[in-house]
Amino acid sequence: MAQRYKGITAQRGNGAMAQRYNGAMVQWYNGKIVMEGKLIIISAPSGAGKSTIVKYLLESGINLEFSISATTRKPRGKEKDGKEYYFISVEEFRRRIRNEEFIEWEEVYKDHLYGTLKSEIERIWNAGNHVLFDVDAKGGINLKKIFGSKAISIFIMPPSVAELEKRLTLRGTDDPSKIKERVAKADAEMDQSRKFDHIIINDILEKAEKETYTLISDFIKIK
Ligand code: ADP
Ligand code: 5GP
Repeated sequence: MAQRYKGITAQRGNGAMAQRYNGAMVQWYNGKIVMEGKLIIISAPSGAGKSTIVKYLLESGINLEFSISATTRKPRGKEKDGKEYYFISVEEFRRRIRNEEFIEWEEVYKDHLYGTLKSEIERIWNAGNHVLFDVDAKGGINLKKIFGSKAISIFIMPPSVAELEKRLTLRGTDDPSKIKERVAKADAEMDQSRKFDHIIINDILEKAEKETYTLISDFIKIK
């Protein structure tokens, strides 16, 4: 029954498929025709260069599409609703949790909720693309648990915490208290890195970009 399209398998979503993942977590596919692509999970402490590498990957020619998370934090710089994030209120976020619209969500920073919508995966697969996630380490580990061998998890590691702080300061998008909060979280995040399939050290940006690209393009070729 399965058909191949752009390296992605299309098949009828049913109970069997839900079981192949993780029981009830993917029940929303039931009864629908879905494209079943792969999932690329990228995590890193804030400032490690994740967004820069994600942008490179999205422009690299691989059929990847960014999973736009929902967040309760305010847009930063030139960020636009529906591009980097769906910017929603805490009330709206809580309503969506109750509605079981998230496959995972976390209070990444105090009072700031971030979550991956199930509808994003469906949207991206149905467009014939593979899903690219930019999530925190906990979210990345959870997604890998849910999707198993359909997913590759990559942790982007900064050369040091001092370099991370320097990059966040140079980026100039967060005030000093926000930078402190992000740096304080970095050690705990870096401790989680061993739970990822691969670790890429982002010292020289071009090298890190190429290494990440190679991992992903090789992974996508696996049947
Ligand atoms: P993240 O998304 O992980 O928070 P960004 O991609 O925004 O991080 O990168 C943080 C800052 O560091 C940006 O200003 C970016 O241009 C810069 N940067 C990224 N990678 C490197 C690198 N290898 N060397 C120096 N600066 C870098
Ligand atoms: P920022 O505020 O810098 O955009 O993101 C803060 C952190 O939240 C980053 O580590 C980012 O990867 C993470 N994040 C973004 N979206 C999600 C999500 O849907 N789920 C989880 N668990 N983390 C997310």
